[in-house]
Amino acid sequence: MHGVWSQYRNLQAMLARHNLRPVFVPAQEETWIHKDGRFMGMAPVGSAIRRSFIPPPLHYLQLFLRGKFLWMLDLRDWASLFNVWSGLIMAVGIDPFAENQPMEGITLGDVTRKWSPALKSFFLGLARNGLSSHPDAVPISGFIAFLRFYTLLRRDAWMFSYLPEDGGTSICEPLADRIHELGGQLRLGSRVKRVAREGESWRVVWETAAGEESARAAEVILATDSNNARKILCASFGKSIDELFFPRALSNAVIRLWFDRKPRAGAEAGIFTGDFTIHNYFWLDRLSNPFRRWARATNGSALEVHVYGPPETLAQPDAVLLAQAIRDVGQAWPELRDHRIGQHLQRNPETHTLPAVGAKEKHLGIETPWKNLYCAGDWVRHPTPAFFLERACLTGIEAANAVLSSHGLQKWALLDYLPPEPFVAWIEKLMRLGRKKRKQQTTAH
Ligand SMILES: Cc1cc2nc3c(=O)[nH]c(=O)nc-3n(C[C@H](O)[C@H](O)[C@H](O)COP(=O)(O)OP(=O)(O)OC[C@H]3O[C@@H](n4cnc5c(N)ncnc54)[C@H](O)[C@@H]3O)c2cc1C
Repeated sequence: MHGVWSQYRNLQAMLARHNLRPVFVPAQEETWIHKDGRFMGMAPVGSAIRRSFIPPPLHYLQLFLRGKFLWMLDLRDWASLFNVWSGLIMAVGIDPFAENQPMEGITLGDVTRKWSPALKSFFLGLARNGLSSHPDAVPISGFIAFLRFYTLLRRDAWMFSYLPEDGGTSICEPLADRIHELGGQLRLGSRVKRVAREGESWRVVWETAAGEESARAAEVILATDSNNARKILCASFGKSIDELFFPRALSNAVIRLWFDRKPRAGAEAGIFTGDFTIHNYFWLDRLSNPFRRWARATNGSALEVHVYGPPETLAQPDAVLLAQAIRDVGQAWPELRDHRIGQHLQRNPETHTLPAVGAKEKHLGIETPWKNLYCAGDWVRHPTPAFFLERACLTGIEAANAVLSSHGLQKWALLDYLPPEPFVAWIEKLMRLGRKKRKQQTTAH
């Protein structure tokens, strides 16, 4: 299941430009399901965040007006509210991507150590699909940038929609057809091994089932995931690549369960936190057209759950992971316990970027140290606040623009992101001024 957030402006504009924008399915509500020992609670949270009547960064307070949310909290949560609040305010004052602020050595674990278990779980749960690792392994720059882009600065930033079918049918296949129409070519089953300078051009070497092939190109855009970009660059330029910073990429598992009846009424999607193995869920029969059709014909339901780690959980055999997911789902929807009619587990390789900001001289941007070799992808350094699909799209357009401008051709315009709402923008300005003054005082001493 893929979500397209309201701030994915360049992705949506690119799809519209090529007449490929699918009819998105708007998200209505997300439920937070939390388990701590014998306690298990559920609270609708998504609509309270995006439709709060309180302006950001205070908009989360609307959650505290909901009885079910309050039920999830205990004394420790109230006692640690100030720590949570100061963590959020810190995120207002720093823009890690725009300031190229790696905040090296500080992890999400350090910042949230004094947060209470439930509130910590809640905020980590909101960011879990993006920052899928132990808090002590998540760079704080990634978490702050994530909060800022998706929820902290605008209420409507948490508005999003789902693709109406799987990613291949909704986006990838129409996009591939469009590339063919425009005279481009896609070569499936070809793995680039290395690139080598040949005069003023590059020779790109790739491997297919038939053996090694190569071609010359004046410009190359390396648009693989972070791990594969590192491999290709290592094979091309040797040991010097070890000095560079590549954001980590993680694996995950996607599990689908089919039932012969529907669950009780509730949100179409949500997050699991605390003592659960699974991290988020989507009722496919309410979001995805093929599943809707199947559910209409059978009166059944189908659930997708994601497991984003940690590595020791993902290292378990399929049967164990599946059993844990089925147990978690049974706890959340006991009415479905004896109604499962099918299951499927898919493991995704280590390609899901763990967003992080590296030092400018070490983290590759779109223009690289190698002439006419550009990078694009959700791991690439760029001052834009965007994440994931939007970041991949924006850096792709920027890389294409670099090639266009090297030929003296007109570039594609990029859309700016909607600015922070006025109150939080004012706080941000004050905090920036404060930081600037402190910096001046420290340098003066
Ligand atoms: C389960 C899951 C759910 C997600 N949900 C969302 C979501 O809801 N919203 C969102 O915004 N993002 C989501 N993401 C993240 C999103 O998919 C990525 O951010 C996005 O795909 C990154 O695009 P990319 O082009 O940078 O890299 P990729 O999509 O990883 O594309 C890189 C491509 O390079 C190819 N490649 C790699 N090595 C080589 C080689 N040597 N030679 C040739 N080709 C090579 C790969 O096959 C791949 O096609 C999700 C990811 C996962 C795993």
